[in-house]
Amino acid sequence: MRDETKCLHSGYSPKNSEPRVVPIVQSTTYVYDSTEEVASVFDEPTKSLIYSRFANPTVMAVENKIAELEGGVGAMCTTSGQAATLLAILNICNSGDSFISTTEIYGGTVNLFSYTLKKLGIECIYVDANASEEEIQKAFKTNTKAVFGETIANPALKVLDFEKLSNIAHKNNVPLIVDNTFATPILCKPFEYGADIIIHSTTKYMDGHAVQVGGVIVDSGNFDWTNGKFPEFVEPDESYHGISYTETYGKAAYIIKARMQLMRDFGVYPAAHSAFLLNLGLETLAVRMKQYCENALEVAKYFEKSDKIESVTYPGLEKDVSYELAKKYLKGSSGVISIIIKGGRDNAIKFMDSLELASNEVHVADIRTCVLHPASETHRQLTDEQLVAAGIDAGLVRFSVGLENINDIISDIEQALNKIN
Ligand SMILES: *Cc1c(COP(=O)(O)O)cnc(C)c1O
Repeated sequence: MRDETKCLHSGYSPKNSEPRVVPIVQSTTYVYDSTEEVASVFDEPTKSLIYSRFANPTVMAVENKIAELEGGVGAMCTTSGQAATLLAILNICNSGDSFISTTEIYGGTVNLFSYTLKKLGIECIYVDANASEEEIQKAFKTNTKAVFGETIANPALKVLDFEKLSNIAHKNNVPLIVDNTFATPILCKPFEYGADIIIHSTTKYMDGHAVQVGGVIVDSGNFDWTNGKFPEFVEPDESYHGISYTETYGKAAYIIKARMQLMRDFGVYPAAHSAFLLNLGLETLAVRMKQYCENALEVAKYFEKSDKIESVTYPGLEKDVSYELAKKYLKGSSGVISIIIKGGRDNAIKFMDSLELASNEVHVADIRTCVLHPASETHRQLTDEQLVAAGIDAGLVRFSVGLENINDIISDIEQALNKIN
């Protein structure tokens, strides 16, 4: 099946007289005929359902759909993108370990890596994604267990150099974890370019309608956990009947270990109803992504021509620094554009407040066009000097193009730009 078909049909195939649409199984638990049967499920929890803290039929249908879209061996949904990132790292790194991340990543991920993981004794070593392989190599320590980056960085909109980062990760016998939120599997399939683990905030394009917060981890099944660096995957797990994940589950060792250890203990599994809503978004993902990209490219070109705009960042523009990488790895550059308005903070705010169709909200990748002013919203505690140091201009506006008619979106931008001098 191709992507459009997988979006509609993967993960759930009703049999004779069963519901056409994935049912919402809003039940915390599952009934068995005998104690012996329940006991056998505890011995082999992947065989059947026990309790909705780690598996539920509605959520599993979505997990299987996303795994198929990404080309992985398995997936596990979480209650948020943040929870997906957290568990993806904790499944590999223990206290005393480190991992490498590119600097241009989502702000929430920076907090998690720089503060909360640090408190747990896990060090994040930041590297400039533009650095050479030799320079990045110098950042590795003997306790370094993974490399992390974003396909299209939020909010920098830089495209990841998959070849460089997967080469260097694999040379050091560690997996490459990629946050594929902005691209979605429709615009990029990171496993084809050497990524080993993918995470998503499904809150963004996958849902698209701004109705559920969620995340997912997908396992490629390609990484060799028996290479000597990851004894927890190979040696018997005392907390689970002495199971060796690599021996018992082979290619699915990573994702099953994540479910059996981390989902069991942290309990960040989504509700069936949220998974149902996410599935509705996924059904149209392929169609929507094409239109977001088409609309955003037109909007980006419009901004490029405007004399009120100092600069436009969109990987789909020929002048963009990420244009070549976008051509190599992406089928489109998503709907998110960054612009710097001439005249700094005041004009940026004037522009945003003058928009009539586009809404002012702390979100991105909505089906409706929305805008955010980092300097006065997500990064408002920083002074203008600190903003510059963080790479955020006071005139920067993040513009998330939606699926309204392109002429309506552009008319709205035009009238708002006309209100600033
Ligand atoms: C929003 C976002 C996250 C965090 O996801 P939540 O669902 O908000 O927890 C992680 N990565 C990227 C790239 C994001 O845009």
